[in-house]
Amino acid sequence: MGMLMSTLTENCFRPVDTCPWCGGKINEVLYVNDYSAEILECGDCGFVYSNKILNKKGLSEYWKEYASQVHLADSVSVQRREQMYELEFDYIARIMDFNGKNVLDVGCGEGGFLNKFKKAGAICYGVEYGQEAAELASEKFKIWQGEFPYLDIPKNFDLIVFRGSLQYCIPPKEYLAKATSLLKPNGLLYITSSPNTQSLCFKLFKQNFTLPVGVTDYYGFSESLLTNYLETLNLKLIAQYHFYKESPYADVENDILKVAKAIECRRQGKQVDFKAPAFYDNMLTVVYKK
Ligand SMILES: [Zn+2]
Repeated sequence: MGMLMSTLTENCFRPVDTCPWCGGKINEVLYVNDYSAEILECGDCGFVYSNKILNKKGLSEYWKEYASQVHLADSVSVQRREQMYELEFDYIARIMDFNGKNVLDVGCGEGGFLNKFKKAGAICYGVEYGQEAAELASEKFKIWQGEFPYLDIPKNFDLIVFRGSLQYCIPPKEYLAKATSLLKPNGLLYITSSPNTQSLCFKLFKQNFTLPVGVTDYYGFSESLLTNYLETLNLKLIAQYHFYKESPYADVENDILKVAKAIECRRQGKQVDFKAPAFYDNMLTVVYKK
């Protein structure tokens, strides 16, 4: 993300004073990042969040051309992401048959993940905040552009997907509640490629985690945090998984050596100053049923 990050100045941010998940005020500083943001863990609920996030100006700067400058800029990453789409589609396709079903992807980007569902006969819809990505996705799918909780969406869905997008959702509970309200009875909520703050690597690598919590990726989730909240909305966890070995990012032996090196750093009280590898539980994949 380096290219766009460099254009973010202090007036692109706003402070966050209380836990965005539970409103709690007690917290522990996990680390301080390059933008002098404190990444906090809530003492009441365990939610991980940045005390400084993008404001309106920052949001439009950051997402305006995210599609071309970041998301589609590097062909190796695009190819690997395409492989992940395949794996993550196959996983949910084992649970639900999509033929003729309504599928909504929240934070759908240019619609790459939706393509898989379309091929399986689903009727596909998307929500996207970034203008450029929304326009690209609109060429193929019905897209609502804007902030999901405040959009009027006159439809109900068999499946709602948050793929790699929940960490950008302000305010997070409103996004999940909106999704739940739009699900049909027995509909599924599929959250995947979401950084796991309960993972060994998040705790070891902090700012150098594969997808760290910071000024543009505001939040970090765990399975128990999500399940505790979604149960209050009468959703039930029906499946969970961690993609790793089968993913295009895995290099098992070298990954283990890097993690071992990070553990040694921690034991010696040194900062881990290299990037985390892909690893067994870095990312969350969870499925809930209404
Ligand atoms: Zn909290």
